[in-house]
Amino acid sequence: MGMEIKITALSKRYAKERIALHDINLTIGKGLFGLLGPNGAGKSTLMQIMATVMSPTSGQVEYGAYRIGKDNHQIRQLLGYMPQKLGLYEKLTGEEFLNYIALLKGMKDPVARRLKVRELLEKVNLGDKAKRKIKTYSGGMKQRIGIAQALIGDPQVMIVDEPTAGLDPKERIRFRDLLEELGLERTILLSTHIVADIETSCSGLAVMNQGELVYQGTIPRLIEKVNGKVWTGQIHAEDVHTLVHKSSIVSRRRTAEGYDIRMVADSAPFHGAVLAQPGLEDAYILLTGSGSHA
Ligand code: ADP
Repeated sequence: MGMEIKITALSKRYAKERIALHDINLTIGKGLFGLLGPNGAGKSTLMQIMATVMSPTSGQVEYGAYRIGKDNHQIRQLLGYMPQKLGLYEKLTGEEFLNYIALLKGMKDPVARRLKVRELLEKVNLGDKAKRKIKTYSGGMKQRIGIAQALIGDPQVMIVDEPTAGLDPKERIRFRDLLEELGLERTILLSTHIVADIETSCSGLAVMNQGELVYQGTIPRLIEKVNGKVWTGQIHAEDVHTLVHKSSIVSRRRTAEGYDIRMVADSAPFHGAVLAQPGLEDAYILLTGSGSHA
C-alpha cells in the first residue's frame, strides 16, 4: 500500500488576495512525509487542493493515474483527510461518531461496521473511552478520534493538517508515534509549523514559506546546509542590540549575565561565539527566517 503523489506547477490565488501557492512541484512517496512551514506558508491551501475540497488556480496533482479535477471520485476513495478544524460531533460518543462516519462512507453491513469501529478505537488507543462523549475528550484524544475517522475505508493516502496544534508534549509524542506506525503501510502527508513534530520520524520533507516550496528532500541533507554555520555563546544584555540578522536567531535564553544565544551565520556573529552541532531547527531558521520558538 501507499502510492506516489505528483504535484506539478501548482498555484492558487484567492480572490483579491496575494498568491497563496506559487508554482509548487513536489513528489511524495510512501511513508510519513513532513510538510513544514510557518503559519500562512500555504500548507493548508495545498492540502485542501490535494484532498479535492478546493480547486487550484492552475497546475496538477496526480495520484498514480488519477488527476484532481478529473477523477475526484476515485481519489476520494483512496484518501483519508483530517482537516485542521475537524467538525466533531461533540454530543456523540467516540464509538457513535465513528459508526456514523463509517455509515456515511458506505459501510452498510452493521456487523462489519461495528468490528471496524472497534478495531480503529483500539488502534488509536481509545478502546476504553469508546462510550464517553467526545466533548469530554482531551485535545489529544480528539485528534486521535480524528485520525480514526480518516482511517475508515483503509485509505492508501492520508492527509493530516496541523494535527499537533494545541497538544501537550506527551500527547504530541504519542500522536507522532501513531502517525509513524501508520506510515509503515501507507502514504501520510503531515503538515506542521513545529520542527520537533517531524524531526525523528519522516522519510521525506518539504519546507514551505510564503507560498513557495523552499526545500524538498531528506532531513539529513537539509541539516548539511547549516554545517559550520550554527553558533552558540553568551552575550551581555547591553550588547544584544548589536546583533545583526536577528531573524537568524534560533534561540535566546536569559541568564544571570545576559543571554545564551544560538544563531545561524556564515561567520562568528559575536565575540566568543563557538560552532555547534547543527540540527533541523537551525536549517529551518535559515530557510524561513522564522523559528518555532516563541
Ligand atoms: P498555512 O496552512 O501554512 O498556515 P494557509 O494555506 O492557511 O497557510 O494560508 C496561506 C495564505 O493564504 C495566507 O496568506 C492566508 O491568509 C491566505 N488564505 C488562506 N485561506 C484563504 C481564503 N479562504 N481566502 C483568502 N485568503 C486565504
